[in-house]
Amino acid sequence: MSLTRKRILVTGGAGFLGSHLCERLLAEGNDVLSVDNYFTGRKDNIAHLLDHPRFEAMRHDICFPLYVEVDEIYNLACPASPVHYQFDPVQTTKVSVIGAINMLGLAKRVRAKIFQASTSEVYGDPSVHPQTEEYRGNVNPLGPRACYDEGKRCAETLFFDYHRQHHLRIKVVRIFNTYGPRMHPNDGRVVSNFIVQALRGEDITLFGDGSQTRAFCYVDDLIEGFLRMMATGEEVTGPINLGNPHEIPVRALAERVIALTGSRSRIVYRPLPQDDPTQRCPDITRARAVLGWEPSIALDDGLSRTIAYFERLLAERGGAKESPQ
Ligand code: NAD
Ligand code: UDP
Ligand code: UDP
Repeated sequence: MSLTRKRILVTGGAGFLGSHLCERLLAEGNDVLSVDNYFTGRKDNIAHLLDHPRFEAMRHDICFPLYVEVDEIYNLACPASPVHYQFDPVQTTKVSVIGAINMLGLAKRVRAKIFQASTSEVYGDPSVHPQTEEYRGNVNPLGPRACYDEGKRCAETLFFDYHRQHHLRIKVVRIFNTYGPRMHPNDGRVVSNFIVQALRGEDITLFGDGSQTRAFCYVDDLIEGFLRMMATGEEVTGPINLGNPHEIPVRALAERVIALTGSRSRIVYRPLPQDDPTQRCPDITRARAVLGWEPSIALDDGLSRTIAYFERLLAERGGAKESPQ
């Protein structure tokens, strides 16, 4: 075995972001262990990696202890879309908190560097805009999003306490809405929903009046940010926002998807879900300064790549694109 080759654990490795991360880490010459219970992830996402001699996939729920020997840990295991994390909210808090404790305990035993995929949801429905890392957020602790928001906030607390108490090397990033190939077609997130609806010629479901804003980052840009964060010196703990600062109303996203797919789908209006943030956009000053990072893939380019992925997926499943009327 090479003395410089790292053994890297990716929890949630079969998910949307995890599968891209595993791919990138393998390409950089590392040994990669994906640990996933396949709750929202799919074996299909990592099928192309299974024959790779430096890749291993383990079915395991991180709410239970895990004993492996690794140099670095990326902790991504947690359902990420509102539909999925609200399906079993108690489990969402458990994986966020108990899962984090187990991974931190593992990092402590093997002295591994550990990365946490936190989220812009720690800011809740933000009253400071765009959001800087100093902003402490506006989270409803009792609402339907709380299992995720508070779970992720508690995980951040645990990371910083393990850092202070046990001197762990921690790397906490707060991820803003990210999209790209391998998003789950039914996970209810806005980019996958709109693209699948447009490709099938179904109505595009706009929640509220569509004036709420988000800023969408293409997955390759985000993964570059992950690697840069992990490579920083011990003094860099985060939290650091990672996302694309190009903010748009969700209605404008629907219009871009319709234009890029050439779909005849109509936009229909549905009630805004409870506690849906009215605005969200990262301030990435810190990421630029500390990591020299900023996104480079424009929305139309990223959407086109994602549309191409869903076209292939729907064709394979026999749910082919409806021809324009
Ligand atoms: P995803 O649902 O595709 O991936 C999550 C993965 O974790 C899945 O493969 C799932 O099966 C696995 N998992 C869930 N519970 C588990 C458990 N108990 N044990 C082991 N594996 C488990 O979501 P994603 O978009 O890839 O998100 C990955 C991480 O990034 C999550 O922690 C999420 O909170 C965070 N994040 C993502 C975004 C985004 O826009 N994609 C934004 C903010 C934060
Ligand atoms: N743990 C794990 N793998 C390890 C070491 C620890 O899963 O290699 C789990 C262990 O089950 C424990 C948790 O991580 O519950 C926290 O570990 P820590 O050492 O911080 O706490 P303690 O064992 O003292 O409760
Ligand atoms: N949304 C929408 N139609 C959909 C799915 C989502 O209008 O079919 C809206 C949702 O209400 C929110 C935004 O799109 O304002 C982003 O939703 P998503 O679930 O992708 O992520 P969030 O940022 O809310 O966690």
